[in-house]
Amino acid sequence: MVSTNKLASYKHETQQNISLYINGEFTPAIGGTTIKNMNPFTNEQINEVAEGQSADINKAVAAAREAFDHGPWKTMKLKKRMAYIYRIADLIDEEIEEIAYLESLDTGLPISQTRNMVSRASENFRFYARMVESRLVGDAYQVDDEFINYTIHAPVGVAGLITPWNAPFMLETWKVAPALATGNTVVLKPAELSPLSANLLAEVIHKADLPKGVFNVVHGYGETAGDALVKHPDVQLISFTGETTTGSTIIKNSADTLKSCSMELGGKSPIIVFEDADFERALDACVWGIYSFNGERCTANSRLFVQEGIKDKFIDALKIRVANIKVGDPLESDTEVGPLIDKGHYSKVKNYLEIAIEEGTEVVTGDIPIALAKGNFVAPTLILNAENNMRVAQEEIFGPVLTVMTFEDEDEVIKLANGVDYGLAGYVWTNDIKRGHRVAHKVEAGMLWVNAQNVRDLRTPFGGSKSSGIGREGGHYGFDFYTEQKVIHVSIADHHIQQFGKI
Ligand code: NAD
Repeated sequence: MVSTNKLASYKHETQQNISLYINGEFTPAIGGTTIKNMNPFTNEQINEVAEGQSADINKAVAAAREAFDHGPWKTMKLKKRMAYIYRIADLIDEEIEEIAYLESLDTGLPISQTRNMVSRASENFRFYARMVESRLVGDAYQVDDEFINYTIHAPVGVAGLITPWNAPFMLETWKVAPALATGNTVVLKPAELSPLSANLLAEVIHKADLPKGVFNVVHGYGETAGDALVKHPDVQLISFTGETTTGSTIIKNSADTLKSCSMELGGKSPIIVFEDADFERALDACVWGIYSFNGERCTANSRLFVQEGIKDKFIDALKIRVANIKVGDPLESDTEVGPLIDKGHYSKVKNYLEIAIEEGTEVVTGDIPIALAKGNFVAPTLILNAENNMRVAQEEIFGPVLTVMTFEDEDEVIKLANGVDYGLAGYVWTNDIKRGHRVAHKVEAGMLWVNAQNVRDLRTPFGGSKSSGIGREGGHYGFDFYTEQKVIHVSIADHHIQQFGKI
């Protein structure tokens, strides 16, 4: 457990058990069962969480449906609805320290990083309030002097939002903000491994006093609660972030009820470092891009391609950096890498290090100090001398593990970078400006950065290609998903109409 002097500055000294949040009330699960929520740093129980199942999903969807069909939310004056959204953002800001603490306690993510994630969360709400006010606009089409046709955006209905554990609060708000701001009602099914901050989001939204049923949270397992949400006939859309295989299951399961699905899935993103790159900046970005968020990051640059001419120097520099990364208690402000989310994921990542050895690579890793032995720690690791067709170069490891490969020229590295099923992100480092653009255009991924680490601009489309996703959220692109476009055709003259049956 974390020491009491560390907890003293926080309001929640012990974690209460967590309920579902349905129709404006915190409520136990109908079946009365709970899930034990574990601390990844100690593997001791933090608290218990109500285990929602299909009956609870039915109840939450009924509340959200009633709020959508008969409540004030979707027809409310825009200014009033956005005032609620800004209020949620302000309330999140008041709780930054608390939410960051809960997130680090629950996930093992270092607190210096969860603080930034929480700031992004309140910005998600403010950003979408501004977007709806300024960019949720239709088009008008004049047809000679006969018609004016115009489009409007209407909310879709009940939005089912299913989120992962790797950046829980940031990703939940990334979906909740546009769904609510555009007038939908929401049932959120957070990841079962990281329920604390989703519960705090329910508390914040309760405090913001949204109309009953507009926002609901059902905790529970994916195969039961998540599945019931996906199959529910009164849910119009599913926004999902998680593993590619889960995304594929959800698309299949949502087919009978013809839902619109937005899929933000896994990645195995390349970072390409050319000989002429700014060496130190590329090194900083490469190390941050794979080892931040404990390597449990969808856009992590988990495959490094370094050009032959600088490979020895770059790999030597990487070895020094990786050996010096501060691994430790996620609640210590100078910790850079914390424990992985749970024992199951820890075993999966460790197994990849064995696979790496079987595949004939060189695995460079460190020891975990005895003091950290209770936690799910994997030391920051380099896999050297890898080949692109190996499993460690193809499969998402989702831990602090960088697979390193080399290349000779531009054509070769583009083939290597694209020789993978995923297509989420990519990073190119070169001081040849033409080449930077050229390579970025050719790498098959939804989001590319040239001479930059992963800095998000919320106005731009977010999403992946190939096995990394379907659709784009972010900016006004999210409106295509969270609203239904309707076209209204208006005759402004007496156009010709056939006169069938006229005598
Ligand atoms: P996961 O797919 O195991 O679970 C994600 C969510 O889906 C959880 O809430 C889970 O309970 C639910 N779920 C599981 N099975 C379900 C089912 N049959 N029906 C409905 N819901 C179900 O993913 P995870 O392990 O929590 O997250 C890690 C993965 O998420 C990684 O692959 C990572 O790359 C990906 N990810 C992608 C992005 C992105 O934007 N592309 C962002 C973050 C994480």
